[in-house]
Formats: sequence, structure tokens, C-alpha cells
Amino acid sequence: PARRRVSLLGATGSIGQSTLRVIAAHPDKLELVSIAAHSNWEKLAAIAAEFRVPRVAIHDATAFESARASGAFPPGTELLPGPGGLVELARSPEAGTVLVAVVGTAGLRPALAAIESGKTLALASKEILVLAGSFVMDAARRHGARLLPVDSEHNAVFQCLEGRPASDVARVILTASGGAFRDWPADALARATPADALRHPNWAMGPKITVDSATLANKGLELIEAQILFGLSPGQCRAVLHPQSIVHALVEFTDGSMLAQLCPPSMTFPIQHALLHPVRAPGPESALNLEKLLSLEFRPVDETRYPMLALARQAMRAGGTAPAIYNAANEVAVAAFLEEKLPFTAIPSVVEKTLQALPATVPQALDEVLAIDADARRVAAGALP
Ligand code: NDP
Ligand code: MG
Repeated sequence: PARRRVSLLGATGSIGQSTLRVIAAHPDKLELVSIAAHSNWEKLAAIAAEFRVPRVAIHDATAFESARASGAFPPGTELLPGPGGLVELARSPEAGTVLVAVVGTAGLRPALAAIESGKTLALASKEILVLAGSFVMDAARRHGARLLPVDSEHNAVFQCLEGRPASDVARVILTASGGAFRDWPADALARATPADALRHPNWAMGPKITVDSATLANKGLELIEAQILFGLSPGQCRAVLHPQSIVHALVEFTDGSMLAQLCPPSMTFPIQHALLHPVRAPGPESALNLEKLLSLEFRPVDETRYPMLALARQAMRAGGTAPAIYNAANEVAVAAFLEEKLPFTAIPSVVEKTLQALPATVPQALDEVLAIDADARRVAAGALP
């Protein structure tokens, strides 16, 4: 059988690196045909050489010029500049599967281009669904494109559902590790530094999502993502604390049975599931060993400790553009925290102020959502100290 040809957008990041491990483990099944990143062209050049990738897109204009002048890419590599370069890779026929792992919402246009070209979209960037979920899902339906979730919880739900309809589902329960501060006393959080927040107990991930894990905004975004991907109501999407990060999600069916998906806390498992779907094969990492001591705990999430989760739920219930506003304000607040311009405990108040300032509307067109996203970023920036 022919190898699956994969385009990897966000190749230099944490998901990108795990994806390269999966591709390297399956030289007979997977072929990397194009890669993209924001500005890290040195790493792109190394990937292009190792995986013999013919086409490379670089979002940042200065980085693109440096890359072109460097001579670091293998001879014959085609370099494409700017946002248009990513869209071109997502659309062009050499790839059948596009994996979008660009942090934030910069991957939206490429994701839509992949869908409109009828490709399989393996989606890691949850922010895209929170920003423009209804447009992405509608486009996938219209163009008959497959959308496979890479986010571990959603990939777990997808595996538990195996194509069963939403009408069989009572609720979907996503697990949360509790992030870097789960064992910190609440009154110490105001002094938490970016370095503290970036020390995640179970997962090695990019900086933005690691901070989101510490506030539980990540789980909030994921509840919204689950609602959109699986056609659920807000009340059907739940979160539970599970410190071991072994069970990634559970599906409770209407008859009271629950199915759960378990694997070690490493993204190579969901990434491989999405890239090889529906094929199963040994991957780069081995399964859990149940002969070693393994205990699994579950406990309710204390939303007073995690206001970002309560705000996400509020945005999910308000619907329309509220999730997009939540997401945009969170991105601004997290960036400010990482630059040490905002205390950790002030992240929720920036998001809350932005949600209060901008009433939720039901967008009729994608441009409207993008305008709201820009407004929310402006309002959130104005709410910074
Ligand atoms: P990283 O910060 O590690 O990597 C981000 C990647 O996106 C880099 O390749 C970066 O390129 C690229 N990028 C950033 N902006 C642009 C842009 N404008 N155009 C093109 N490329 C861009 O993030 P993660 O890998 O942790 O996360 C990626 C996405 O996956 C996020 O949406 C996250 O929520 C989601 N996700 C991540 C998980 C994880 O385990 N890490 C788990 C589940 C979901 P450069 O290096 O040049 O800056
Ligand atoms: Mg996740």
C-alpha cells in the first residue's frame, strides 16, 4: 500500500517533535512531504535534511529571508513565505493528511484550506475550534473532509465512540492533571513565576499550553472543543481531576456504561492514532505495564481554585462568539504572564473583564468571528496592568 503523505504545520514545536517520532517509526506507512513553522528556520532545515522534505513554509518574513540566504536547506528544497505559504502547503495535492499543530489560531486558514481540498485534517490546535468551531465543522461536512482529533482527551473520546452517534452519549468526561500548581496552597499562587508554571508534573508541552494547564484554561478550551467536535450540549461536557494522566477521557453512554482510553502521558499515542487511522501498529513508545504498581485516582475539580474553568463554562453556555472572546483574552493574558507583565492570579480577571465588555453574538460569517477575535485582543490588552 502507498504511504500516507503528511504535511506538518508547527513542525518545530512540541507536537511537531512528537509527530516526527511517529513518522520516523513508520517509514513504510508515513511520508513527510511538507513542513512549516513561524520562525525557527534552523530547526526546519534540520528536519528537511533528516526527513528529505521537499517543501517548507516559514511564516515570519525576516526568518524566511534568513533561511533563503543561509544555504542551510538541502539543494532543491522549495521555501514558501508567509501565511500564504502555510495555506499553499495545506491545499496542495502532494499531501493527503494535514496535521495542524500551530500554537494559537494562526493555523485556522491552513486548516480550512485542508478541509476545502477534501483532505484528512489531524487537528492539535484546539484554539481553532474554540475560535471558529461551527465554520470548521460545517466546512468539513460540506467537503467530506475527515477531522481527526489529536488533542489527547478528544482523541480518547473519538476512540471510545468508534463512530457511535451523539444520541448514545450521556456525557463525556475529560481528565485534568491539575497542572503545575495543583499541590500549591492557594495563597502562594499570586507569586507564581513563569518558570514555576512551566514545570508541568506529567506532560512536556509548549509554553502556552503549559500555562493553560496550570490555570485549567486548557481544560476549559477542551470542554468547548469536545462540545464542538462531538455535537454535545454544554452540560454533557465534564472535567475531572486525575493526577496520573493515564486515563485521558471517559465516555458515559445513555445506558450507564462507561468506556475509557488509557495510555502513558505522551502525545505520540494520539498522534499515531490520528495519522494511521484506522490502522493500529506498534509505535515509538511502549504501552503501560499493569504489572507495575499503578493506581488511578479521580476527584472533582474545585472551580473556585480554577476560575478559568468556571469562565470557560460560562462562555460555553453563552455560546456564539463568547468562546472566541474567552480564547483571545486568554492568549493575551498568558502572553503577558510569560513576559512577567501580569501576575498568574490576574489571568482570570483579564478574561472576565473582556467577556463582560463584549456581548456574545451569533456570527454569520468567518470574517465576523475574526473581527471579534481582534476586538477581544484589544480589550484584553487594555485590561492589562
Ligand atoms: P509549541 O509552542 O511547542 O510549538 C508551536 C509551533 O507552532 C512551533 O512549530 C511554532 O513555530 C509554530 N507557530 C507558531 N506561530 C506560528 C505561525 N504564525 N505560523 C506558523 N507556525 C507557527 O506548541 P505545542 O506543540 O505545545 O502546541 C501546538 C498546538 O497543539 C497548540 O494549539 C496546543 O494547544 C495543541 N496541543 C498541544 C499539546 C502538547 O502536548 N504540546 C497537547 C494537545 C494539544 P516556531 O518554532 O518557529 O515558533
Ligand atoms: Mg489535551
